[in-house]
Order: sequence, then C-alpha cells, then structure tokens
Amino acid sequence: MLPEHYPSSDHLPFNSSCLAGRFQPESPDRASGGAGVWLLLRGGELLVEATGALPRGIAPPVPLPDGRTPLHIGRWDGSPCRVLALPKELGIPSGLHGENLSAVEPQLPIELLTLGGIAGQILHWQRTSRHCPRCGGATIAVSGSWGRACGACGYEHFPHIHPCVIVVIRRPGELLLARKAGWPVGRYGLVAGFLDFGESLEEAVVREVREETGVEVTDVRYVGSQCWPFPSQLMAGFTAAYAGGEIRVDTTELEDARWFSLDALPNLPPKRSIARFLIDQHSRD
Ligand SMILES: [Zn+2]
Repeated sequence: MLPEHYPSSDHLPFNSSCLAGRFQPESPDRASGGAGVWLLLRGGELLVEATGALPRGIAPPVPLPDGRTPLHIGRWDGSPCRVLALPKELGIPSGLHGENLSAVEPQLPIELLTLGGIAGQILHWQRTSRHCPRCGGATIAVSGSWGRACGACGYEHFPHIHPCVIVVIRRPGELLLARKAGWPVGRYGLVAGFLDFGESLEEAVVREVREETGVEVTDVRYVGSQCWPFPSQLMAGFTAAYAGGEIRVDTTELEDARWFSLDALPNLPPKRSIARFLIDQHSRD
C-alpha cells in the first residue's frame, strides 16, 4: 500500500504532506454538525469499511459508548471529520474492520494512515490534558486552539509534542547501526533519543551517540523530520560522521551496536520510518 521510496522526508507517513490537501484541521469549537466522515479509533486501530473507506453519516455507525463524545478535528474533502475512541470491549461494529496504524506494513492508503495518526495524537492529548499540570484542577478548552486552560489557576498548556533525534552514523563504506532488545530477530536501526534540558538538536545527537555507543561524531547535519504519533513524538533526522572511539554498548539502552558494510546491511527498519529513509539515503551515496 505504501510507496517504496519517498522523494523527501516530508512525504513520509504521518507528515501532513501525505494528506494531499484533503484535510483542513480545525479546533473542536468549529464543529458545524451535518454529515461527515468518522474516524473510529479502537486501541491502535482505525476502523474502516470493507472498501477501505471511512464510514460516513450524521451520527457515528456505533452507539456512543458511555461518557464518550465525538470530537470535531477538521474537514476531510470538505466534510466534517470527527474522532471517536471506542473501548476494546465494545467489539468491532459489523461492516467495519480494524487497521493497525503502527503496523510494519500498513494496509491503509498513506493519506488515511496519516489522518488516523493525527486523530490518535489528538486523542492522546485530550486524554492527558484534562487536568492542570500545575495545580491538578480541571481544564477547559481554549477556543480556536488545542490549548487547555485551568479553571482553578488559569495556567494554559498546549499540545505536548516531544522532540527526539535519530541519526545515521557514517564512515567510508560503513554505517554504525544499533539494535534494541525486543526488536525482530536480526533487525538493526539507528541511535535515537529524547532531547535533554539545555540542548540543541545537534548537541543531543552527539550526546546520545556517545552515551549509547561510546563513539564520538562530528559534522552533524539535519536531514528532515517525521511526526511519530505513538503517542506524540517528532523525530528529527540527522547524519553524523564518525570522529573516533571504539564501540562500547550501553546495555541499558541497546542490545548491540556495530559497523556494517554498505554492501552487507542487516534487516533494516520498515520503509515507512525516517530511520529507513536516512539509511537508504546514505547507503546509496
Ligand atoms: Zn491549575
């Protein structure tokens, strides 16, 4: 279903370029009612019809679960687009089936995969922003945005999107790849990690590589980024050149790290990830 190659990192799944202009985001207070499409999320799955289309209608094609209300998130092909989280206990309504948004080989077209990712990211924010992070009071929506304001102390907070760096480390004819415990057998990917206080993205790259592999890098260059809505990261992709040091694996983070010849690369991450985009770009050079 997904492309074999992406012309740029902007075209990777979950980035808005994949929506091809079909989705216009709107805050929930812009809800207009009327017939529209339904994004039914059940766990990590998006429910679609047998044809692969989103269900349409004025009301959702399922009884509303207790205490859950649909959320308007924008317009899809000009029609209202609403999200509804379904509990797993509810079962899948007849005529629909679930497609896993984080599948290695997703069966959804890239625009629905990306729309489902956005919907999941918004639901995660809705679930985690009901209470004020400062005083614990209940929050209410800030009109015209995704912000939440505390009814007790007035503190406002806005969607939490967590920046991570991910880096392909190169030296002539080789890439340094790393493996985490729990990955599929033989799979190697890239060093990655969350930003720390007081760091630029480039500084985070240097620190993460040093901490996880013991290696020093230089010439850190930004390539592009990918929204990663599991639950709400931004992966900022870099290349870096090997500057020295022997590999010493931090086994609290990684199971293994080693140099691979460009003509003998191992099992690599799925093509829908910026990790693979970075590796493919540099194994062709
Ligand atoms: Zn508060």
